Amino acid sequence: MNQTVKNRSASESHQDAAKASQDDRIYEEMFTAILEQRLSPGTKLSEDVLGEIFGVSRTVVRKVLQRLSHEKVVQIFPNRGAYVSEPSPEEARDVLDARKVLEAGIMRRVVRNCTADDLARLEKMLEEEAESIAAGERTRWVALSGDFHLALAAIAGNRALEDFLKELVSRTSLILVQYQGGGVNSCACDEHAGIIDAIRARDEDRAVTLMLDHLQNCEEQLQLDGGDEASDLYKIFSGVTGGRIVRKEG
Ligand SMILES: [Zn+2]
Repeated sequence: MNQTVKNRSASESHQDAAKASQDDRIYEEMFTAILEQRLSPGTKLSEDVLGEIFGVSRTVVRKVLQRLSHEKVVQIFPNRGAYVSEPSPEEARDVLDARKVLEAGIMRRVVRNCTADDLARLEKMLEEEAESIAAGERTRWVALSGDFHLALAAIAGNRALEDFLKELVSRTSLILVQYQGGGVNSCACDEHAGIIDAIRARDEDRAVTLMLDHLQNCEEQLQLDGGDEASDLYKIFSGVTGGRIVRKEG
């Protein structure tokens, strides 16, 4: 009896794990498609079609979409469904600014907490970044450079900070693909190398300064000022214009 119960719970937890990995796989596929701009900002994400493509129920698709919307990569509108987010230039600036606030604090904790193993792991990540650049694998590089920042948050040893940064890094990935001209640096590798040097030297102030400079450089590479204001205005007032006109005439 005890054994039966144990077996059942083992098989159930196996099924749970399978379901979780299925969710993860679909999440990764969709996130990558967004980063590679196969799914461009503003694209509608139909639950039915995605369910068909991935061979899963709408419930599973909905769960993945909710996860992506939690990370602000997807936006869900009541009665209209889910769309790939289109971060505005203002939102892009806010996200980078929030990262500066958060990552300055993270760097201080990293300098205090970082072990030799942590440093070795960061060095290894830097090598992988360099490899992906050399191979011209842009999507992998964007992901790896985000991972570098998340690894620092993990070393800082505060789960809440890590969760906040995870959301901001996901949003930055979308901002990079939307606002960066093709082929330019996302996270310059040599700047990551400088940050590692400052951590190794246990130089808290230098580590913070280098991180802030790095995020500033990242922001300056974005083409945030060249937006088409006319089309933005139409977008902002779509669906509202009719009501306004009626009110004016009445
Ligand atoms: Zn970086």
